[in-house]
Amino acid sequence: MTTLKRTKELMSKYNIRINKDLGQNFLVDDEVIERIISEAEITKDTCVVEIGPGLGALTFPLINKCKKIVAIELDEKLASILLEEIKSDNFVLYNEDILKIDMNKVLAEFDFTDQVVVISNLPYYITTPVIFRLLENNYNIIHYVLMVQKEVGKRLTSKPRTKEYNALTVLMNYKTKTGYAFNVSKNCFIPIPNVESSVIKMKYFPLNLGIHNDKLFLKFISDIFANRRKTLVNNISASNSISKSNLNKYLVDNNYKETIRSEELTLIDIANIYKGLFQNE
Ligand code: SAM
Repeated sequence: MTTLKRTKELMSKYNIRINKDLGQNFLVDDEVIERIISEAEITKDTCVVEIGPGLGALTFPLINKCKKIVAIELDEKLASILLEEIKSDNFVLYNEDILKIDMNKVLAEFDFTDQVVVISNLPYYITTPVIFRLLENNYNIIHYVLMVQKEVGKRLTSKPRTKEYNALTVLMNYKTKTGYAFNVSKNCFIPIPNVESSVIKMKYFPLNLGIHNDKLFLKFISDIFANRRKTLVNNISASNSISKSNLNKYLVDNNYKETIRSEELTLIDIANIYKGLFQNE
């Protein structure tokens, strides 16, 4: 059965109303589904974490191809439908929020020696926080194959001083090697979204920048891009207790303009400024 047919049948069988607030755009193109699975390099031994399985566009074809799937779906109704429709010992579903779930609990579903891959047609409204969450720790995941908004794909290769360059670009540069895989037309989804999509493949590959507390550094990256209209100093002082005069002095002493904006800084600049301000040795 095609994914389009199955999706339509499930929608009518369970009287599903799409929840746009949860970014529900169901993928219904079998060729795209096959390409995503192929990018993920799934074998019978691979274990999969799927974020937002929805009506199972990726889950159904994956279930017979891999060792085990652990899916995390926030929508209670979709979660119960999947549990009803997929009766397999290899399928575990958490009806939880990917931004809150304990990832160690998810990964404990697999054996220590298993190779784990994350696959998701991401709910676009939380792309950035999800990627920040996934990269907070080294979860020993081989790679991530993610469908994202095409704009996000562009951020991967964007340079400072461009409109695409933001916290996500900096984070990806710092923590990953990420490549763009292919574009997906909006016509491959129901309902048809407003934006085009891209599939990216991301590998955890952190650079050693001498950061002692990674969590604080990731928060710093988020903080300094929080408000694009503000200067670096104003963004830092909005979320930290350092006075603006001390920040200005630090910047001038280190040959940066007081009025500099975060999008003008490379990853190395950002790491140096962070270390200068928050790391004392
Ligand atoms: N994987 C399905 C597909 O490709 O057709 C659905 C993808 S849809 C773009 C995103 C899915 O993520 C929806 O099923 C939505 O309910 C779910 N979702 C939204 N927010 C979530 C969250 N915070 N945690 C887990 N799942 C979430």
